[in-house]
Amino acid sequence: MKKKLIAGNWKMNGATATNAALLQQLLAGVGQPACDIAVCVPAPYLAEVGALVKGSAIAVGAQDVSAHDAGAYTGEVSASMLRDLAVRYAIVGHSERRQYHGETDGVVASKAQKALAAGITPIVCVGETLQEREAGLTEEVVKRQLAAVIHTNGHCISEIVVAYEPVWAIGTGKTASPEQAQQVHAVLRAQLRAATEHSDRVQILYGGSMNAANAAQLLGQADIDGGLVGGASLKAPDFLAIIAAAA
Ligand code: PEP
Repeated sequence: MKKKLIAGNWKMNGATATNAALLQQLLAGVGQPACDIAVCVPAPYLAEVGALVKGSAIAVGAQDVSAHDAGAYTGEVSASMLRDLAVRYAIVGHSERRQYHGETDGVVASKAQKALAAGITPIVCVGETLQEREAGLTEEVVKRQLAAVIHTNGHCISEIVVAYEPVWAIGTGKTASPEQAQQVHAVLRAQLRAATEHSDRVQILYGGSMNAANAAQLLGQADIDGGLVGGASLKAPDFLAIIAAAA
C-alpha cells in the first residue's frame, strides 16, 4: 500500500543551532513512522541537515532547483549538486516562487524535469489564488499547472509528488476544508490517471495551514496522500503530531 508523505517546508527559516535542536527533537520522537517523512530546508543547510538525519526515517529535501544544468546562473543550485548532497526531494513551483520570482508553468515543468533526471523526486506545487477560487477557476488553474509538468515529463510522471496548496491557505491560518481539498485532489488524481497507468503511485499532498489539530481529518480523505507543512514543521511537537496523524 502507498505510504503517506509528510514533508516540512522550513522556508527561509533556521540557523545551525536551532536546526540541530529541532532535528534532535524530531529524531527522538519519530520512532518507526508509518509514513515517509522529509524536511525541505534552506540550501545552505542541506549538507549539515543531511548529516544529522543520515540513517534515520527523515529524508532531506530542497526548496527549489535550477532549470539549468550548470554555468552562468549566479545564485542557482543545480539538480546534480542536490544529488551530490544525497537530497531526496525538491519542491518546485511553490506559490511563493511563482509569485515573487515570476516562475511560469514552463519553468516549473523544466525544474521538475531536471530533478527527475538527477534522481530527485520533485514535489510539484499547484494551487489557485483566492481571486481565482472566487471566480470559479480552481480546477482550470490546477489542471493547467499540472498539465505543463505532465507534458514536459511524459513517461516519468508517476515519479513525481504533487502538492495541492491553495494560495489563500498558505501561512494564513485558513485551511481548505477536507471536502474542498478532496474535491481538488480527485481532479488531480483523474488528470494523473489519464496520463499514466501508474497514477496510483503518485502521492498527492495537501498544503496550507495544516496543523496538529486539522491533520487527521485532511489526511483521512481518499485522495490526500500526505501533507506539505510550512509553519507547523518548525515546531517539533506539532510536526510529530502531524506525522502521527498520517499513520
Ligand atoms: C507551505 O509553505 O508550503 C505551507 C503549506 O505553509 P503553511 O503550512 O505555513 O501554510
